[in-house]
Amino acid sequence: MNAVNDLQATLDASRKSWIESANDPAGDFPIQNLPFGIFSDRGNDARRVGVAIGDQIVDLAALQAAGLLNVPAHNVFARDALNDFIALGRDVWRSVRIQLSQLLARDTATLRDDAALRAKVLVRAADARLHLPVQIPGYTDFYSSKEHATNVGAMFRDPKNALLPNWSEMPIGYNGRASSVVVSGTPVRRPNGQLKLPDQERPVFGASRKLDIELETGFIIGGGNALGEPIACEDAEAHIFGMVLLNDWSARDIQQWEYVPLGPFNAKTFATTISPWVVTLDALEPFRVAQPVQEPEPLAYLRHRGKHAFDIHLEVTLRAQPARQASTIARTNFKYMYWTMAQQLAHHTVAGCNTRVGDLMGSGTISGPTEDSYGSLLELTWNGKKPLALKEGGTRTFIEDGDELTLVGWCQGDGYRVGFGACAGQILPARG
Ligand code: MN
Repeated sequence: MNAVNDLQATLDASRKSWIESANDPAGDFPIQNLPFGIFSDRGNDARRVGVAIGDQIVDLAALQAAGLLNVPAHNVFARDALNDFIALGRDVWRSVRIQLSQLLARDTATLRDDAALRAKVLVRAADARLHLPVQIPGYTDFYSSKEHATNVGAMFRDPKNALLPNWSEMPIGYNGRASSVVVSGTPVRRPNGQLKLPDQERPVFGASRKLDIELETGFIIGGGNALGEPIACEDAEAHIFGMVLLNDWSARDIQQWEYVPLGPFNAKTFATTISPWVVTLDALEPFRVAQPVQEPEPLAYLRHRGKHAFDIHLEVTLRAQPARQASTIARTNFKYMYWTMAQQLAHHTVAGCNTRVGDLMGSGTISGPTEDSYGSLLELTWNGKKPLALKEGGTRTFIEDGDELTLVGWCQGDGYRVGFGACAGQILPARG
């Protein structure tokens, strides 16, 4: 078999693992997924690279040390971020994926039948702590959902001209703040800032009263470009290592006062949460679908042939304190996005901007066509005018202290799911 066939075999829907929990049709981490992350555990608090499979994590540092993983770099998994591994390039990511898929396949005895070896290289996910998967040199956030941009434009500007003329010509974006990207499970403190109340001439300083989520995905740059050398749209996907779920927490009242003329600043700098497992584009390949028709046809540098959207089902839940059960407040899909990841990356670099391994690119809030598929409370409650009812009583317009917001997402395969795990955060009260 050659490498192309071996890579194709990692996507075979009928492939099962000897790790039985990986064969659960509703689980996020079947043998077809194999997402990369950074973990530590009770027995070993050193951070290292792991791959999720069922309810287990494969310790790649231990696997390489045991001589079971052939990689052209010594000790590259005993690191506190994926960057050094990612920098080895796409052929190496693919080779590791192929080797892991073969080692974990039901018919492969190497690990399956060696209890001592299994004890060295497998860690129960329940005993592990997950960390930020990449060291992020830069974070950019786009605004690429037509439904979201239309809803926000209608609310804050003019329902008749909700989309600004530039929106359908380019993936609008802004430079976000990389230093405050945190991993799922990290509490988020409600921000203080300038609030402009409608009946007052000058702003007051205080805690945001309109704290919101933005349901997004993010992609991680796997191969950067040099300063002054743009990435062509047709080549852009080869520069992407994989995807995560991303919650671009947003303080709408701070945002509305500060965003003209240079865009959001403190409304979004306080925290961005990402899910801990990076799902590779290779694992997402079976879920590739056509993007929406783009009218007008984009300028030449934003054109690509073929299908460049991905069918990823997405949900948001809200758990109020002290409720036990979370309420699902939105269901949507990544495939609705107007601009593709490839177009975003081509546009990001067209003026000569360089990107680096580990850079994070947010999709923009992912809203679907129906009122229950909007990716923010701003839209779901129409700026607080239509409160949402929660499962165990009570309502919400915006987020209250103690609320826990969780994003989940998965691609539905034939008898299995390629899932992202959770992207969760609980809101702490503002500093007094
Ligand atoms: Mn955003």
